[in-house]
Amino acid sequence: MAKDNETVHPVETSLAIGEDEKATKLVMEILAGRIIDIRPELDFTSELGFTYPIAKQTLGVKDKELLSILESLVDKGILKRDFFDRLLRCPQCGSINLRPTTHCPKCGSGNIARGRILEHFVCGYVGLEDEFVTEGRYICPRCQTELKTIDSDYKSRGLLHKCHDCGDIFTLPLIKWRCLQCSSLTAEDKVTEVNIYSYRLNETKRGWLDFELNPKLKLIGFLHGRGYEVTENATKMGRSGAEHSLDILAARDDGIVTHHIAIGIEVGEEPIGLNRLFSFDNKVYDIGIHEKVLVVAPGLTKEAKAFASRQRIKVLEASDLETVLASATSQPSVEIKKEPFEFKSKSQLIEYLKQRGYEIKENTAVKGRSGAEHNIDILATRDDGIITHYIAIGIEVSEEPIELNKLFDFDDKAYDIGIQDKVFITVPGLSREARQFAERQRTKVFEVKELEPAD
Ligand SMILES: [Zn+2]
Ligand SMILES: [Zn+2]
Ligand SMILES: [Zn+2]
Repeated sequence: MAKDNETVHPVETSLAIGEDEKATKLVMEILAGRIIDIRPELDFTSELGFTYPIAKQTLGVKDKELLSILESLVDKGILKRDFFDRLLRCPQCGSINLRPTTHCPKCGSGNIARGRILEHFVCGYVGLEDEFVTEGRYICPRCQTELKTIDSDYKSRGLLHKCHDCGDIFTLPLIKWRCLQCSSLTAEDKVTEVNIYSYRLNETKRGWLDFELNPKLKLIGFLHGRGYEVTENATKMGRSGAEHSLDILAARDDGIVTHHIAIGIEVGEEPIGLNRLFSFDNKVYDIGIHEKVLVVAPGLTKEAKAFASRQRIKVLEASDLETVLASATSQPSVEIKKEPFEFKSKSQLIEYLKQRGYEIKENTAVKGRSGAEHNIDILATRDDGIITHYIAIGIEVSEEPIELNKLFDFDDKAYDIGIQDKVFITVPGLSREARQFAERQRTKVFEVKELEPAD
């Protein structure tokens, strides 16, 4: 199961395509190999003091925005960052153009000098060697006596600093930072430190990103083009009470029935195994969706394949997805305004479905899983390119309200054929039990006076 753990799943880390086009574009450039390492360059004149020239140019954004894009991609685990340098920033104006200056630790003066320090024993004067040198001799600037013998007249205290203002002698000067932008002087502990980083792709995410940024986008575009509402990383409550998340949930309201397609995405390093399919199927069953599509890379194991076909999971290989979508029959552009369907007549219902891309067969025989042949009053079929939708429409005309057994027969038939979307048209209506049954079996019912009113 180690492989499963290594595999990245979109639900855990969503790039939220669409929300952040620029981040997406940057990642695509990286995947395409046009940008490899995003390395900073120092630039005192820029707003941050450093810049990432290639990425900045590619995205056409300012440094600050770019940095926040890079950091958000790090938060999502898509990019990794490596320490590049630590910069000091002026707390007054934000510039990184700072120069260190040295000061006397006692009085703070910058008027200090570094040099060899001599001490005259007789008068106790301590000063820089320079102060004693007069015409090639050492003369004490305080008592004007000549210093002749080291360690007897005077001694050297070594290389130290001396403050010209207060006379203090010290080993380490105080460091302050002079901003060359705004001239302000900042104490060492008050200056702002900024770490800057270089950025690169988190290689373990490459497979997922390759999919996420290409086929997934195409799939979503394809579904939009066919009138679906698409929700990425949808959260749905199952009948068990458990909450499930679906990679893509597509819904299309056809006026009469609403189709829901649950789309899962499984990307791994090895063919996707049975357990992953099993959990997808369970989840979708719990949510109550019967149209299932699984996009996989790189393919399925043998057992998983058998399971998918038994459970009617449409499997699309990520690598084929583009071809499949491109070769899907083009649909009549479904620019029909959405209004609740109102049954006027059987012929109007058929016309309504045809407009929505359905092929209609009347009084057609369909073979069920049991082997039995069933007669369906109206079978509406629409091939979406990735999934084929069926609606079984039953018609029952009688003098009296239709009894439960008729509806039960219809439901049985649809179940045997494997059609979940059921519409039942009844003249003049249903008995109470039949109506309750229809509701429970999610059968859409139209109770009408006549099939073809002669208005
Ligand atoms: Zn002296
Ligand atoms: Zn001083
Ligand atoms: Zn400044």
